[in-house]
Amino acid sequence: MSHLIIRNGVIQPPDAATEGLTLWEGRGLLVTPGFWDTHVHFRDPGNPGAETRQTGSLAAAAGGFTHVVTMPNTTPPGDSIAWLQEQLCEDLPVSIHPSACISVGRQGQVVADIETLAKHGASCFTDDGSFVGHDAVMREAMLRAGLVDRPVFDHAVMPSLAKDGVIRACEVATDLQLPIFPAEAEIEAIERDVRLCRETGCTVVIQHISTAGGVDLVRQARAEGLPVYAEASPHHLSLAAEDIPGDDGNWRMNPPLGTHHDCESIRKAVLEGVISLFATDHAPHTFESKAKGFLKAPFGVIGLETAIGVTWKVMVEGEGMSVMDWVSCWTLHPARILRQCLPSLEPGQLADLVVIDPKTPWVVKPETFKSRSRNCPFAGQTLHARAVLTLSKGQVTWRAGNYR
Ligand SMILES: [Zn+2]
Repeated sequence: MSHLIIRNGVIQPPDAATEGLTLWEGRGLLVTPGFWDTHVHFRDPGNPGAETRQTGSLAAAAGGFTHVVTMPNTTPPGDSIAWLQEQLCEDLPVSIHPSACISVGRQGQVVADIETLAKHGASCFTDDGSFVGHDAVMREAMLRAGLVDRPVFDHAVMPSLAKDGVIRACEVATDLQLPIFPAEAEIEAIERDVRLCRETGCTVVIQHISTAGGVDLVRQARAEGLPVYAEASPHHLSLAAEDIPGDDGNWRMNPPLGTHHDCESIRKAVLEGVISLFATDHAPHTFESKAKGFLKAPFGVIGLETAIGVTWKVMVEGEGMSVMDWVSCWTLHPARILRQCLPSLEPGQLADLVVIDPKTPWVVKPETFKSRSRNCPFAGQTLHARAVLTLSKGQVTWRAGNYR
């Protein structure tokens, strides 16, 4: 496309009049529909010191996102109409498509009121942060979610195998004598989810996949024709346990970083289309909590403001992924799985888009982020791609300092 005309926030036909409009020179830049993130934690309600819907939305806009799915592991958990209304009601720089809990109180015992929650805006169901351990509970939830045409997203980590593990086996784990989180904790959970998908027919998305064994199971399930999907997070695509620099809580996440072989198999699965979603698992934590070191810090890293740069570096620059496929993993595929209108830049629509500079180098400085938290394992890295302009619902929600 040589030009895009936007008047009063609405995309115009290519031959529309341009008098009175500001001209933005976009040579060498990419324009795509705004990005979708199926997995963010805005810590709202419950932990405003780490993030709020306001600060999280600003971070999303600065990262090129216009649509996010907020996770329900807040305080209180997202298992009620009131919680959904709170997520949906604010005038924010992103569109929030809240998830809701699979089980009442995220306790894994009783299936939440899926039909009512779906009717009040739940885009999908998840107990993220916790695996739904009882097969009967998960089966019932999947049957009911299937009937209201909502996907289930699962934090596929079996607690009986993960135990108190915080890290995969690596040098730092040995040096610091940290409890090991085995790959089997994820693999067995995915095996269970695939089995229940086969029984129920409900779409299931494996959240933040981290192991080669788990990727193989997703590949087999898809070859069988099952509606099994998986999210690849920027950190699991690009970092391995061997890269952990030492006793630094900013490298602790759940599931933990795998081996280089795990990273490679996730990247290969994305290239093959076996994994069709990127998702950040943006998980803000206060500086004080992350400063406790690897053993005591909470799990999670932020990701909204580095997502474009990291996935571009790893997949487009590193693996030769086509730009269209890369964009689709951040736009078309998530919107389709969430049963939302497909993103486009068609005339007549309110502008919902991101302009990306794919070339100019920039250094990751978490202290400059819009997010309230700084727990970022990419600090100091040089990346190329980044969002320079974001429009959501026809309004400019982000403009990089050097792009006026
Ligand atoms: Zn999770």
